[in-house]
Amino acid sequence: MKDYSLAPRVLVTGGAGFLGSHLCERLLADGAEVLCVDNFFTGTRANIRHLLGNPRFELLRHDVTFPLYVEVDQIYNLACPASPNHYQFDPVQTTKTSVIGAINLLGLAKRTKARILQASTSEVYGDPTMHPQPESYWGNVNPHGPRACYDEGKRCAETLFFDYHRQHKVDIRVIRIFNTYGARMHPNDGRVISNFIVQALLGRDLTIYGDGSQTRSFCFVDDLIDAMVRMMNRNHGLTGPVNVGNPAEMTVLELARTIVRYTGSRSGIVHCPAAHDDPKQRRPDISLAREKLGWEPKVDLETGLQRTIEYFRQMFDFPNVSAAVANWR
Ligand code: NAD
Ligand code: UDP
Ligand code: UDP
Repeated sequence: MKDYSLAPRVLVTGGAGFLGSHLCERLLADGAEVLCVDNFFTGTRANIRHLLGNPRFELLRHDVTFPLYVEVDQIYNLACPASPNHYQFDPVQTTKTSVIGAINLLGLAKRTKARILQASTSEVYGDPTMHPQPESYWGNVNPHGPRACYDEGKRCAETLFFDYHRQHKVDIRVIRIFNTYGARMHPNDGRVISNFIVQALLGRDLTIYGDGSQTRSFCFVDDLIDAMVRMMNRNHGLTGPVNVGNPAEMTVLELARTIVRYTGSRSGIVHCPAAHDDPKQRRPDISLAREKLGWEPKVDLETGLQRTIEYFRQMFDFPNVSAAVANWR
């Protein structure tokens, strides 16, 4: 049993990314010692610069596909590019990150007896034939398409988590995250909310892939981080998987119109070819998170989008905005 009378030492892999940086912030605020590990593939120092002066925060450049020997009490495994543009850029490295990264971190958890949480994804459901998606649904995933490096990598990571749990008694937690948005999303990562906000603020047409009838459910980052921390700290061995996301579902076309309205932009909307294997509908069934974590999202889409728009407005609040977006690191 870990002694939590001292500040817990918490490892966050992917800690310089969008979700990871918010998680590091939250853990520091809760009094933890945080070791942030990142290879800066999609993450950036800018996301964590404000934490570098905190004596309880440490940053280590490291790729999780290589072994890591540190002493910690808890591990949040977030290392993995998350947007289709980024994870399809080097698909072999994406699978390695999920699979070899999981083996190394589970080996670390086994040796140190740390509790380990895996940031899994709604992508394990693929293009779902069941709606909304409960944890008991096994998914509909193309194993060899362009999304497979991410989807199958994350599925294999789940397998490893449950096998280390059964075989080696590792204390695991698995959450399946549905689309999450907020400040520090990468402006070039191609995800729908960052794309639409950047396009609207720059007065460019919003690009809808396909007819825009596909649906998604968007969760604000603060809600997501709260669920993640609850899942990690709940005792009595809830391994998951547990869905976390906001069940409010909308079409991509509705989202585009909403963002044009909230930004006050004069951008138009254009239709581009549909993305390969693009799931047609996605909404989490969060009954389990409600029951076991006492959690449900609190931030509605309007509030969350306004805060995210404000973040991008400030980022672009200097001359030559287009170059800034193109070169953002
Ligand atoms: P992100 O791309 O901003 O963050 C991923 C971080 O992992 C980056 O900082 C990146 O540099 C780092 N990384 C990538 N490969 C690495 C490696 N081999 N070694 C060390 N670091 C590495 O993405 P995010 O949105 O913050 O996603 C974080 C996690 O949450 C990911 O595992 C992702 O699959 C999962 N997730 C996110 C969402 C979402 O909507 N944001 C949805 C489902 C799952
Ligand atoms: N590992 C690590 N840090 C540790 C312990 C293990 O990175 O503190 C890695 C190690 O490289 C190993 C992997 O985790 O290959 C899996 O460890 P495990 O103990 O399950 O397997 P084994 O060492 O027997 O291959
Ligand atoms: N999408 C879009 N235009 C964009 C970016 C994305 O129409 O500029 C669509 C995409 O095809 C998908 C949805 O928005 O149907 C969500 O895409 P995202 O990449 O954000 O997440 P994911 O597909 O992983 O849920």
